[in-house]
Amino acid sequence: MSVPFVLTPGPIYLSNEVREALGREFTNPDIDPNFYEFYKNVCTKLQKLMKTENEVLILAGEGILGLEAACCSLTEEGDRVLIIDNGIFGAGFEDFVKLYGGETVVFKSDYRNEIDVNELKTFLERDHNFKYATMVHCETPSGIKNPVDKICPLLKEYGILSVVDSVSGMGGDELETDKWQIDIVLGGSQKCLSAPVGLTFLSLSKAALDAIYDRKAPVKSFYCNLAAFKDWYKNKWFPYTMPIHLIYALDKTLDRTLSGDFVNRHKVIAEGIRYAVKKAGLEIYAQSGFSNTVTAVLLPEGADFPTLQKYILEDFGILAGSSLGYLENKVIRIGHMGENCTGANMYRFLTAFTYSLEKAGVKLKANLQDNFKKEIEKNGFTVTIKD
Ligand SMILES: *Cc1c(COP(=O)(O)O)cnc(C)c1O
Repeated sequence: MSVPFVLTPGPIYLSNEVREALGREFTNPDIDPNFYEFYKNVCTKLQKLMKTENEVLILAGEGILGLEAACCSLTEEGDRVLIIDNGIFGAGFEDFVKLYGGETVVFKSDYRNEIDVNELKTFLERDHNFKYATMVHCETPSGIKNPVDKICPLLKEYGILSVVDSVSGMGGDELETDKWQIDIVLGGSQKCLSAPVGLTFLSLSKAALDAIYDRKAPVKSFYCNLAAFKDWYKNKWFPYTMPIHLIYALDKTLDRTLSGDFVNRHKVIAEGIRYAVKKAGLEIYAQSGFSNTVTAVLLPEGADFPTLQKYILEDFGILAGSSLGYLENKVIRIGHMGENCTGANMYRFLTAFTYSLEKAGVKLKANLQDNFKKEIEKNGFTVTIKD
């Protein structure tokens, strides 16, 4: 099977170093005590990335496992849980909470804007009897980043625990777990970290761990039960065999991520994209809370997504994506995350996008790729050499 150049918002291109890590010799992760040290060391690197002293776990499953495990481990029958919803992943948390017997209350707000903290404040003044609240750091389908830095401390004032999905934010957007008082924050391997699909990782505050350990009723799952990891290091025991090769690869990508100013790179590239898109007369779906890692651009009149996608693939070998649910075929998403987030890649993508629009008969007001290039050059980045 031949593969295209994938410029969707995850999974992300794997560097040669990461691919080599996948082919490394392995030990038995259940039996070899060295593996427990290695796993702990990778967790320490994740703590650096998440800016936390809290306990970190790596689970063998894609991002969704992290979301479900957090809700499953915290929720007891009849617990009231607040679902903070301004997008597809935000809304999706409700299913997990209900599945494990929680009573949900949805704080739904505008899907084109970041969560309005003042509105949430007013809401909480009336109703704040919640065990925990769920929210999404970066809504990947719409490219909206939420002010988790303000929401989590606000929840803390009422003793509400927070669960934050930062699968597509972590590594590309600011994330200060301890400073922002996040109880559980979770990420996935295949987004900004540019590791293979298949791992999720989360940090758990003392309050979150207490809530999990002090449950009245046992957790109704084995695989999703975070309490199963209790004392893993002391006992040198995991609930299941850890995917050692994926963790080798994650370790390599963490070294790459932690050694440079990744967040700044994402910020400059994202700003360049938004500048160029607006100059060209196109409309960005988000109206506030712009993500550093993904931009959803509304398709102009006359542009049909499957046709554009076909032109981009056939003539440039690039796989482009639209979005999910209500945004399917309404937007094209530019995934500028992780290893994909370079001036050169984005220039190439914008060139292909422009070409596909022209071929579909859409005229742009200005050249996308050249404006992008000019804008990032102002900030010391370039589209020619590998930046
Ligand atoms: C990618 C992603 C996940 C994981 O889900 P997928 O099945 O890989 O799409 C969870 N939350 C967010 C915000 C994501 O972007």
